Amino acid sequence: MTMDSAEKDVLELSLRCPKKMKNGPCGSSFDGRCEVGGFCVWKEIYGRLKEEGKLSVLDNVLGAEKFGYSPYSDKKAESFMDSKRFVITTEIEPPKGADLSKVKRFLGNVKGVSAINVVDNPLGEPVMGPFLPSLYIMKHNIKPIYQITCRDNNIAAIQSDIFAAYASGVRDILVLTGDYVTKNSKPVFDVDSTLLAYLIKTKLANGLDFCGRKIDTKMTINIGVAVNPNAVPCDAEMIKFRKKMQFADFAQTQAVFDPNMLDEFSRQMNFHERVLVGILPIMSYKMAEAMSKVPGVTIPEDLKKELKRDKGAGIRRAKEMILHAKELGFRGAHIMTFMDNKVLLELTKKV
Ligand code: SF4
Repeated sequence: MTMDSAEKDVLELSLRCPKKMKNGPCGSSFDGRCEVGGFCVWKEIYGRLKEEGKLSVLDNVLGAEKFGYSPYSDKKAESFMDSKRFVITTEIEPPKGADLSKVKRFLGNVKGVSAINVVDNPLGEPVMGPFLPSLYIMKHNIKPIYQITCRDNNIAAIQSDIFAAYASGVRDILVLTGDYVTKNSKPVFDVDSTLLAYLIKTKLANGLDFCGRKIDTKMTINIGVAVNPNAVPCDAEMIKFRKKMQFADFAQTQAVFDPNMLDEFSRQMNFHERVLVGILPIMSYKMAEAMSKVPGVTIPEDLKKELKRDKGAGIRRAKEMILHAKELGFRGAHIMTFMDNKVLLELTKKV
């Protein structure tokens, strides 16, 4: 793989990004600002490439050259996405400690979902790793979606985790770059999520580790990626999304609260049959205020106002958004209820 000067420029500039994003801005870039502070370097990279008519450079997976070329494998494992129905997924947050009772209670009562994400250290806070909770999910005949962020582990540790997860029966993995967190832990970012998706589908799938050495299994893994329809401006995010979808079997979006935003996102791509729209019921004005501070999340002002008058507005809007996603032809909805079975049931009724 040869590298032209525009690619070299992108790789050099990306070193200024706190997450070392080589394949597009992270989902937390908003209006040219960086979630860590100051300006997002991807505003400059995208602007420069556009001006020079070289945006096509971003079609390539940048950073892949140092791992050597291996062919992409389009083999698929049995997946929750095989369902003929509108797919519903949700997520669990493993315990911050060793007490799995809340997870077990949730799993004992969960209904109507095809798969459950096991989140990986949300917002950089340490919680139990996704391996054990994934085993519990499988015991309930539900597919786990094993999340891996590039923030907390280097690529050797990421591969070790994947080997163990695969041996235990996990076949759906969601790769994320991860939020930037510096609370006394050092972020790694050996790779970004685009490069990680690429390496799993070209290396592990061919029975090779990321450096091209033989491993004992050809791993057929369904890869999921994330996309943020709230990104402003959305162009660079969409270029990155289209690139990731060359390797990904499914995508889950950041929570969307504005139907017009979902319409716009829908117009800009054509992978509806592989995309699950993120749904987050906002239960109070206080929660809306707190969620607004999460990088990449945008809560419309009119929803906040409505929540001041009526606490039920969040659930109502979430329900409407699920139906809207269905009308637009999306494959399903990823519903985040913080392990509240009642709310989940309420939202999935009659979908
Ligand atoms: S917003 Fe994200 S992509 Fe942009 S510079 Fe900051 S960390 Fe990097």
